[in-house]
Amino acid sequence: MSRTALGVERVTTVVIGAGHAGLAASRSLSERSIDHVVLERGEVANSWRRERWDSLRLLTPNWQNRLPGYPYDGTDPDGYMRMGEVIAFISRFAAISGAPVRTHTAVTSLQPTDAGYHVATTSGDIQCRTVVLASGACNVPIVPAVHQAVPAAIRSVTPFDYRNPSQLPEGGVLVVGASATGVQLADEIHRTGRPVTLSVGEHVRMPRMYRGRDVLWWMDASGVWDQRYNEIDDVTRVRRLPSPQLIGTPERATLDLNALSAAGVELVGRLAAVRDGQALFSGGLRNLFALADLKMNRLLGTFDEWARSHAREAEVGLPERFEPTRAPASSRLKLDLRNGELRSIVWATGFRPDYSWLDVPVIDDKGHLRHDGGVVDASIGMERRRGDDVDAARVAVELHLRRQL
Ligand SMILES: Cc1cc2nc3c(=O)[nH]c(=O)nc-3n(C[C@H](O)[C@H](O)[C@H](O)COP(=O)(O)OP(=O)(O)OC[C@H]3O[C@@H](n4cnc5c(N)ncnc54)[C@H](O)[C@@H]3O)c2cc1C
Repeated sequence: MSRTALGVERVTTVVIGAGHAGLAASRSLSERSIDHVVLERGEVANSWRRERWDSLRLLTPNWQNRLPGYPYDGTDPDGYMRMGEVIAFISRFAAISGAPVRTHTAVTSLQPTDAGYHVATTSGDIQCRTVVLASGACNVPIVPAVHQAVPAAIRSVTPFDYRNPSQLPEGGVLVVGASATGVQLADEIHRTGRPVTLSVGEHVRMPRMYRGRDVLWWMDASGVWDQRYNEIDDVTRVRRLPSPQLIGTPERATLDLNALSAAGVELVGRLAAVRDGQALFSGGLRNLFALADLKMNRLLGTFDEWARSHAREAEVGLPERFEPTRAPASSRLKLDLRNGELRSIVWATGFRPDYSWLDVPVIDDKGHLRHDGGVVDASIGMERRRGDDVDAARVAVELHLRRQL
């Protein structure tokens, strides 16, 4: 670390965020003796401390939550960590790697300079040559615009506000979104006796276990996850796929729509609008379900083919196929939000990153980072901005683990 003539601190690389990605990047930088700091607005593993509900366990089994040079070495490799365990695991990695983390240091702006970047933070400014954006992909819950028309008497919560069902008023709950978060919260809330309606759009169905193994074991072993981003036909579409309907429980249970409807959760279509106090849902559940079943069976077929062609049949059980998703005989197309039947809405409609502090022209018109395999070439925008020849200063983007799901 050195200082500029004006006394501004200077390092080679600034890593923004001390979650999995930032700490893994820090470890790689240390191995290459590249001086750097890791700036974290909260504490190490902040997202897992502040932005998750109480009962959440990881979807990824313990053996899979490894970090560089730091495998899971506990007694339950096939289990799913609770939040406290995730925080301890990441914090231990930060300590063992000696990551130079500065906690409670939020980056408030990142601007290009002739020699790299100027990073403004709540604890002073830093100049650096390169930046690793490891600030996470799930900083803000997405809430669709229709929420503005929801009557004020209905309590609206996002997964970031939600901690446990006791926060919700007694009475009916509409959970919007049936990916990993939506199915888990619908299940948890329904278990308290509240009537739950689940609004289902495009989703990815997956059994927790397949042929006696965790479905994520199959993804890993069969090489589905080894595919590089540039080997995938439509990587933009794949990156926007919803997270699979999975839950991590000691029972290794499958939490799909059949399990939820058998328990008494009412399934309705995608929330299309809220008008005159009515929530309006799309029809066509049968087609939606058939598509998700088809895609799941295609994936299972890939696993079967891999086991057969790689002589792995003896390690796993027999091929299985699961009951198609049962569509209700008729699903409600509207729900009155004023008659008291429904008291709260949980918006499980996804998350997005927050780059409001990123003053480098690398965001496309949809708010996504323009990058190639995790590397953003900021030179084009900088040329336009400064009108001169710039060297190819680059912002490296450490992609989040969720991309793999
Ligand atoms: C509900 C939920 C469940 C999930 N479950 C799983 C799972 O089971 N398995 C899995 O692999 N993935 C899961 N994910 C995805 C998960 O978030 C990522 O896998 C993992 O957290 C990615 O790590 P990261 O380091 O990229 O991001 P994060 O862990 O989010 O770390 C980003 C860090 O950057 C900090 N930060 C952000 N902005 C700034 C700023 N301006 N200045 C300074 N610091 C900043 C944040 O405080 C945070 O600590 C889940 C996500 C959600 C929302």
